[in-house]
Amino acid sequence: MSRRILLTVCAALVLAGAILRAQAPQAAAVTAIRAGRLLDPEGGRILTNQIILVEGNRFREIGANVAIPAGATVIDLSQMTVMPGLVDAHNHLALTYKPEPESNIYYYTYVQESTALRAIQAASNGMQMLNSGFTIVRDMGNNANYADTALRQAIEQGWIPGPTIINSGIIIGGMGGQFFPTPEMAKDHNIVYPEYLDADTPDEMVKAVRQNILFGAKVIKICVDCKPYGYTADEIRLFIKEAAKAGMKVEGHVQTVNGAKNAIEAGIWSIAHSTGLNDEMHKGMAQKGIWRAGTDTPTGLAGHPVSPQAYQRTIDSLKNAYANKVPLTFSTDADYYVVGKTRGEVCLEFLKTWKDAGIPNADIVRAITINGYKVSELEQTRGPIKAGYFADLIAVPGNPLDDVDALKNVQFVLKDGVVFKKDGTMTPAAFFHGGPVNGWRIR
Ligand SMILES: [Zn+2]
Repeated sequence: MSRRILLTVCAALVLAGAILRAQAPQAAAVTAIRAGRLLDPEGGRILTNQIILVEGNRFREIGANVAIPAGATVIDLSQMTVMPGLVDAHNHLALTYKPEPESNIYYYTYVQESTALRAIQAASNGMQMLNSGFTIVRDMGNNANYADTALRQAIEQGWIPGPTIINSGIIIGGMGGQFFPTPEMAKDHNIVYPEYLDADTPDEMVKAVRQNILFGAKVIKICVDCKPYGYTADEIRLFIKEAAKAGMKVEGHVQTVNGAKNAIEAGIWSIAHSTGLNDEMHKGMAQKGIWRAGTDTPTGLAGHPVSPQAYQRTIDSLKNAYANKVPLTFSTDADYYVVGKTRGEVCLEFLKTWKDAGIPNADIVRAITINGYKVSELEQTRGPIKAGYFADLIAVPGNPLDDVDALKNVQFVLKDGVVFKKDGTMTPAAFFHGGPVNGWRIR
């Protein structure tokens, strides 16, 4: 008996030792980055010859006179402009409609491509975005049956590299959503069901929000006016109240002035698209601090023509929003294939619209960085290059404050303290793992 107790005690001690060893804090690796120029978007200025210390996945110290610890890995970006990562506030990573074979009609994409295939496309699109310097992407629906959540989890758990994803799950709308499905599709076979959650009554609205929260959404997206029976201000308030229980904000797809009026009256967090936004609506948004995710599509994207009149309307709207001091995000609504371009390259083509609207470079840079962190509600932890923040940064040879197209030439990307791109080439090996190294509990 006593021997058995002794053995048990010994076994317990061995086990405890193993657990202690496993939990012993290991000094995180330190990386020192020599930044020739460091762009501060908030101040719209460049600091020269800065040292950025990264410890593990966080920034430790930044300054001109920071001592580089012995044994630190040194990365030389002394010929570069180092800056915080970029944000696209409206993308659809698990949707890629194409000139061929579907003539850009995305109904056919939904019918033709499975959630599984689209999830793999999303993984690829995410890496393409990161390669272009986008370290945060708001993934705003039309992502099949929660492929956006799967992508976010795969990145957060540590299976694959990718931007930090703020995803909306399935877009909630009155019956039919943004679609006009046939009765056979919607009622009998549900072929297009996962693209929109029908919510027509208060009970259904609450339940739809809860379903998205349950299945991993980080922001709630609603179709405000996709149908003549769109949502009233009171109905939008109900969405906002229910989402707030989980600490989430609501973005509205808005395409009419009346829809914009209702969304602004309800105090929605952000408005996608600009077709419903006139001078009066912009003034209301500025007054209430409502984010504008205008999805300002440029001309010249091969296979995706925009008429000169439509482009002029987009420019005029963006100009008017800027003049009214509406909080602006860089947002693309990218969800299609432009032959010869990656998803990230497609998004950066949208800089053209901002330039043509006469927005100063410093404010374009703010929209694509700081405002992106804020609309994503990450600005306290991720985005700015500050001690204690997650270590995301990019580097370009030129100076985006002089020529904003310098952003199209991202040569270096650091994500969560790990080098993803160096000397213009993706080097993602350190991101790939055969298991959820950051924890399987991440939901
Ligand atoms: Zn969209």
